[in-house]
Amino acid sequence: MIEATLTATAKVVEPTIFDLSSPGRVGVSFPEPDVPRTELPKSMLRADLPLPELAEVDVVRHYMHLSKFNYSVDGGYYPLGSCTMKYNPKIDEDTCRLPGFLHTHPLQPIETVQGNLALMYQLQEWLKEISGFSAVTLQPAAGAHGEFTGVLIMRAYHKSRGDVKRTKMLIPDSAHGTNPASSGMIGLQIVQIPSDARGNVDLKALKEHCDDTVVGMMLTNPNTLGLFDENIEEVIKLVHDCGGLMYGDGANLNALLGIVKPGDIGFDVMHFNLHKTFAVPHGGGGPGSGPVGVAAHLADFLPEPLVGILEEGDDETPPLFGFVKPAKSIGRMKAFHGHFGGGHVRAFTYIAMHGPDGLKDISQYAVLNANYLLARLRNTYHVPFDRICMHEFVAEGQFAGSDVRALDIAKRLMDYNFHPPTNYFPLIVHEALMIEPTETENKDTLDAFADALIKIADEAKTKPELLHNAPSTTQFGRMDEVKAARDLVLCCWLPEDYGDQ
Ligand SMILES: *Cc1c(COP(=O)(O)O)cnc(C)c1O
Repeated sequence: MIEATLTATAKVVEPTIFDLSSPGRVGVSFPEPDVPRTELPKSMLRADLPLPELAEVDVVRHYMHLSKFNYSVDGGYYPLGSCTMKYNPKIDEDTCRLPGFLHTHPLQPIETVQGNLALMYQLQEWLKEISGFSAVTLQPAAGAHGEFTGVLIMRAYHKSRGDVKRTKMLIPDSAHGTNPASSGMIGLQIVQIPSDARGNVDLKALKEHCDDTVVGMMLTNPNTLGLFDENIEEVIKLVHDCGGLMYGDGANLNALLGIVKPGDIGFDVMHFNLHKTFAVPHGGGGPGSGPVGVAAHLADFLPEPLVGILEEGDDETPPLFGFVKPAKSIGRMKAFHGHFGGGHVRAFTYIAMHGPDGLKDISQYAVLNANYLLARLRNTYHVPFDRICMHEFVAEGQFAGSDVRALDIAKRLMDYNFHPPTNYFPLIVHEALMIEPTETENKDTLDAFADALIKIADEAKTKPELLHNAPSTTQFGRMDEVKAARDLVLCCWLPEDYGDQ
């Protein structure tokens, strides 16, 4: 049984697939073989492996039942800050399932996959144009993997110039946790740079740390407060003047499409989150895609292989696409060519469908929606860095004289059938509620969400127990977080008599 320990309501018990098993039920039937039967080698049969016995319909109903407890972007509003949970257009699902894309293998001879390679080449070109960079790799599997790739490139660049005493990475205190993690994994020392009162990088602190031991700076712009750094040119100049490189965390590109090119304002390298900005579905462990763009002086260091043109075409013949190796490549970052079908084809479709004007609309509406919600909520929730925001903003989930916390507000929103915003991040806002409306929501949805948050603020004063005990309308109520952390059960799907394996 899968059990959830709840603070407010009784234990909810859902049967597992093993509970539903009944000896002799089968879900598959094979045709009579037209070759002689042979016994399987004994070593391949594991008698100890518990396999449930069910019919196909039992399995389908079991998982369909469980899937209904999930919240999804197709099921409701999902204003999860920093993650850009926008609606994913269904046309992307059609194209990524086209047989020519779906049924190809990465080891096929290039002559037989020219369409796939042309798509990847064009996606590299579009990402270059959108970002202002000179070259792009599609290999990295997600944003964090893109950061790791980008920081390796930065280090390789300094090393190639004999500049070997650089060991420090400057990272603002508003940064996403993956920034220090990816630099740390490469063995760099992290230097935290504070934010100033307006939510910008504190220039004075930055100046103090800029010296010839700096590999570079990792900056998210707009940052995780949803604010465009007002001194961005000066920040970049300071880092460049001490010989460092500027890494752009591109997770917030949804605020900039068609408006600002990070390469043009001086960033040297940046990752894209195709699964955020370009509507590739994510969450639940689905495949991400984190291409990396670099300025000309870093192009030789990109991972190999890139997709390139091996033979130019003419009016009669299309070009021959294939793989090329950058001269000083840091090597391969991923098996084969990255997440082709799940990531590249969907993002390609999305960009092709929108075109340049459509991409610009995306960012303008994302920013407009965020400012609309901010305007509706700033009198109810304290917004510590309150100025025109980009595609998201961060409010405080606490009220003077009340013991209600951001977590209670987030849980209570579930009772109103909204996915909670990101909470407790960024760390520089107390009881943070980080709200990213995205461009795909209409005014009715934004208003309903704002109404719910305003109502919850009122409940916090009049009926705080409603918030402390929330959620009360979902299948599982408030989880016991302490028990979950101390008493971690990682394999609750195994039958009880399976032993300790
Ligand atoms: C999501 C995110 C990342 C990491 O991207 P993943 O694809 O989740 O690995 C990095 N920085 C910021 C600001 C993000 O929002």
